[in-house]
Amino acid sequence: MYNRNLDIQGSGMTSQRTRDRLVQLLRSKGIEDEAVLHMISKIPRHLFVDEALSIRAYENNALPIGYGQTISQPYIVARMTELALKTERPLTKVLEVGTGSGYQAAVLAPFVKELYTVERIKPLYENTKQLLRDLGYRNIRTLLSDGSWGLAKEAPFDAIVVTAAPEQVPEVLLEQLAEGGRLIIPVGQQGTQQLLQVITRYPEQHYETVTYEPVQFVPLIRDKN
Ligand code: SAH
Repeated sequence: MYNRNLDIQGSGMTSQRTRDRLVQLLRSKGIEDEAVLHMISKIPRHLFVDEALSIRAYENNALPIGYGQTISQPYIVARMTELALKTERPLTKVLEVGTGSGYQAAVLAPFVKELYTVERIKPLYENTKQLLRDLGYRNIRTLLSDGSWGLAKEAPFDAIVVTAAPEQVPEVLLEQLAEGGRLIIPVGQQGTQQLLQVITRYPEQHYETVTYEPVQFVPLIRDKN
């Protein structure tokens, strides 16, 4: 259960000063998009984790959110958001696969018109839906569904951000990109190296892949065939 008293401002280990230190760290690690850094400094990450973990919310670490899942590391959230925004194209419709705590969705949503986010674990979906609503997000649509199949009924997307790692890129996600749209996705086996990739769709089913740094994500689970 998230911290329901919604202390957005925070104090001590959740204060603005602590958040600003995290932003400095992310800048030193190479995050360059100041709008993204500003968003990280504003969003109360401590509300996206269990209250007992809130004092650790502004460390640059992944933290458990129950059900064997984790809230992504702030660096990775900043990086994926920065990569999603590195385009001339307006981000009208965006899909996130793997809602989890909702933190990545909260950081990304202010930059896009409509953000669809899908989660397969029901209690996480329910908890996060409520949190995002309580925080006042109006352009995030949360859905309980297996995102390894994308979200066909809302496709095409200007960007798809996947926050769990498949061993191989699901073809169907590529097909749900608009022309010029980008898939931001960690790819690789658990326990071995996963790599962050950005795949851009061009006309006539042509795709271009750029590989970024090694990352560590929980697996993207495929429920059915
Ligand atoms: N974006 C999240 C990261 C959560 S970890 C955050 O900021 O907190 C990845 C999440 O992906 C987990 O909640 C996991 O349950 C979910 N997930 C894994 N496979 C999935 C699938 N096929 N469809 C939807 N969600 C999936």
